[in-house]
Order: sequence, then C-alpha cells, then structure tokens
Amino acid sequence: MSDYNAPRSTGKKSGRQKSAAQKVLTANQGHKARKRFGQNFLHDGNIINKIVRAINPKEGQNLVEIGPGMGAITEPVLEATGALNVVEIDRDLIPRLRTQFFNYPNFKVYEGDALQYDFTQLVDTEAENPAPLRIIGNLPYNISTPLIFHLLSYTEQHLVQDMHFMLQKEVVDRLAAGPGTSDYGRLGIMAQYWCRVEPLFIVGPGAFNPPPKVDSAIVRLVPHDVLPFPTKDITILQNVVRQAFSMRRKTLRNTLKTMITVENIESLDIDASLRPERLSLEEYVKIADFVADNPLLPVSK
Ligand code: SAM
Repeated sequence: MSDYNAPRSTGKKSGRQKSAAQKVLTANQGHKARKRFGQNFLHDGNIINKIVRAINPKEGQNLVEIGPGMGAITEPVLEATGALNVVEIDRDLIPRLRTQFFNYPNFKVYEGDALQYDFTQLVDTEAENPAPLRIIGNLPYNISTPLIFHLLSYTEQHLVQDMHFMLQKEVVDRLAAGPGTSDYGRLGIMAQYWCRVEPLFIVGPGAFNPPPKVDSAIVRLVPHDVLPFPTKDITILQNVVRQAFSMRRKTLRNTLKTMITVENIESLDIDASLRPERLSLEEYVKIADFVADNPLLPVSK
C-alpha cells in the first residue's frame, strides 16, 4: 500500500556553512543546474532507494529513463538490469553519462527532446514476444504534462508495461483525481482512460539539488489490460473533454453546445446543468460516443 498520505520524506540539508549556490555546485559535481531543462537533481540516497524499490527493475526488462541527469536513478537501475536506454536533452550531461556507465555495453544514450522522441523504436515489434517499455523518470517539471500526454499515446499502441514518474505533487494529484474535486480535469481523465493511476509517496524539496519550491511525488501508471470504458473514437473523446474543461465554471450545456444539444445530453441521463468536474470518465465516454454517431459539426481530427 502506498504511504502517499503519510508525512513526507525530506532530504535533510547538511549543516555545513556553504552558500546555497556553492552547495548546489558541489553536490552537482560542477554542473550548473539549468532551469530551462527543469534540472533538480536527486541526492537523497534513501529517496533514490525508495524510488528504485517502487520501480523494481529486473534483468531482461525494457527500461527507458527520461532525463537521467547525473545518473541518480540511472545507476541503481542499470545495476539491476544491466541494460537501459536513456533520453537526455542537455548536451553537457551526455559525455558524463557515457563515461560514468562506460562498462555497461547495453547502456544507450539518446540525445534529444523526449517530447519529440519516438519511443516505438525501443520496442522490437518484429520479435515474437517484444518486451514492453517500462518508462521511468524524475521528469522536468516544466514539460511534465505534455510529456505525459505524449507517453499516453504509446499505451494506446500496447507498447508500455508501466511508467514511474517523479512529478510535482500537484500534477500527481491531478492525475489521480476523481470527479467532484478541484484537481479533476483533462489530465486525470485521459490518464485514467488508459491507465490505473497509483500515487506512491511524497518527496520534499530537500531531496533535490537545487531544491524545488514545491513538494514532489512518485506516481505509477499501469495501462489497463482491458479499457474499462472504451470509446468509439479517442479523438472525439479528447475533443469533448478539452471543450468541457475549456471553461471550468460553465455548465455542459454551454461548453458543449457546438457538439451536442441539451436534449441529447439529457437523453444520456446526464444533467446538462452540471459543471465539467461533476462528470465521470464513463459519462464523458457516453457523450463522446453519442457525438461520434451523431456529429453536429464536421469532426476535427
Ligand atoms: N534523473 C535525474 C535525477 O533524478 O537527479 C535528473 C532529473 S531532472 C528533474 C530532469 C532531467 O530531464 C534533467 O537531466 C534534464 O536535463 C532532462 N530534460 C529536461 N527536458 C528534457 C527533454 N525535453 N527531453 C529529455 N530530457 C529532458
């Protein structure tokens, strides 16, 4: 069971009298953390162990890490599996990573933007039983939401076994939120459409160099074997959900009026005077499937 609601773990700061900038540089082995790449490097050994235990990497599995940075998670994972692909955008970190793990021939570094990266190339689809991807990463917070949407598209192709991410706690709350809460929205609905979402534990700012301003949390996403509420057309579901949440405070009758009439919403046993956060995933699928069969407007793909 997760200890998501237990008191959070805080990496304790050392008592040495160094300036904050010096401490960060020392801990980061002379690499200056880049804000634009969302670089907050993990340095707390207990937290790193806890994350690796949650991932439970095993030899023969197909792991890929997004943003290995200085290798905090990379090292113990690679020790367990002997093989790992990583995607890193910061050119300055690539030679370090290659040097650090030179004795692992099956450690492969892809230099570039994970948002543009085609993860299908890591799955040997020609093989009889291709090993599905296990995606891990202490994700750069500035791009975590688009990255999660990008990665969900691979679960659609049945290429993913599971995903373990460190994210801002607020993003994990949104991923896991149910209807009727302020965190509930497009991210959670689409993540829960494809995956079971398990928030695992909270990590305080002190576990990182430099420390971020907010709490972080680890989340596990496991693609459903069988989708609980399959829709006829995923693009229409995405459009309906996007449209419904485009104005959170407005009712469905207003936000969805270009897609479906009030009468038709009500014919699905859904109250059109509700705000978007009141509807379950199942109800969004009902609306989307109705729209798929009865488009009011040409459907934009
Ligand atoms: N995994 C390391 C750790 O836990 O200490 C570093 C985590 S740091 C929060 C995020 C990492 O993602 C950095 O190494 C950063 O350079 C990398 N990164 C940022 N944007 C990226 C992108 N678009 N594609 C791939 N890597 C990215």
